[in-house]
Amino acid sequence: MTSVGHGADRGRQAVRERSREVRHGTSQGQGRTWEEPCWASESGAHRGRVAGYCRTVRDDDLACRRVLSVVCANECGARTVWPCKSHRASVCEPCSARYRLRVRRVASEGMLGHSRSGHQGMLTVTAPTEGTEHSGWVVAWDRRSLRPTCGCGSSMVGGLGSWNASAGKRWNVLRGALRRLYPGCEFFRAVEPQERGALHLHVIIWTPIPLVLKDVQALALAAGFGCVIHYREALAGDTGAAAYVSKYVTKATDQRGEVPWDVLDRESGEVEAVKDARYRTWSSSREWGMTMKVVEAGIRAAAQVRAAAAAVRESLTPATGFAVSPACRSVPPGEWSLAGTVSAVP
Ligand SMILES: [Zn+2]
Ligand SMILES: [Zn+2]
Ligand SMILES: [Zn+2]
Repeated sequence: MTSVGHGADRGRQAVRERSREVRHGTSQGQGRTWEEPCWASESGAHRGRVAGYCRTVRDDDLACRRVLSVVCANECGARTVWPCKSHRASVCEPCSARYRLRVRRVASEGMLGHSRSGHQGMLTVTAPTEGTEHSGWVVAWDRRSLRPTCGCGSSMVGGLGSWNASAGKRWNVLRGALRRLYPGCEFFRAVEPQERGALHLHVIIWTPIPLVLKDVQALALAAGFGCVIHYREALAGDTGAAAYVSKYVTKATDQRGEVPWDVLDRESGEVEAVKDARYRTWSSSREWGMTMKVVEAGIRAAAQVRAAAAAVRESLTPATGFAVSPACRSVPPGEWSLAGTVSAVP
């Protein structure tokens, strides 16, 4: 009992201290009770727990189609709302659009950071052409000379589903080979699911010396990609490629369910088709520059500045009430884990 009482004392003390320093919301200014310090915790900070979806029309500016109702897990009674943060446009257009902008920021800042020296551009590598031998893709083909026969389809062992599942490992092999050919090269990689269900990789790549596509094609074929390959050099300051690849990131997230994907069951040795493939829709090299963490911290800082400004404005006008309606349905377990997952980690 004594320890509990002591804890409560410390809690109240923390609240008093926090009240002095916290004049405005710790969230984005959502929910009056959430902006008060938490009396049930020693730090005075609330711990958010998702209680369900909010179905009511709200008058706040939280642009999200499936707003989550959040209660304090310390059971202090505080409530707030969070955006669903879904990366899927089919689930929530505003949240996926914000995600797309964040990804674009990561891609474009990296491009700008590398624009002073070297070369950069967008490299596209593809899945092999299914079937038997075909006329191979020739880099800078003159459209006249005979194209050599290509057997890149032999990398498609076990069909498209197996190849897609191996694309991540194949990219690791290609990435290592590129690093050896172009020491110090940096990249931002995004995945595009093609109509036929095959995955394409769009790679914004920076190299210290000009990239020779013919050499890269040989490396890509050796890593098990198809012979079809593109490279388009970007001029310094041109971040069009960043906009292009970020568009595919949310598209790829939405189409995961339609991408053929097989995995080998290690115990039985059987190949089974997976309904909703999981793959990283984008990733970047360590020295790319901007990370998603930095982008998100910047957004939070800006939100705090906005909240502070709003608090000042509000103190000059009569207070407006805020209530989170209890009319919220519960979130199916599968959906919530999806809503909160950042499935694309660098
Ligand atoms: Zn609380
Ligand atoms: Zn949303
Ligand atoms: Zn080929």
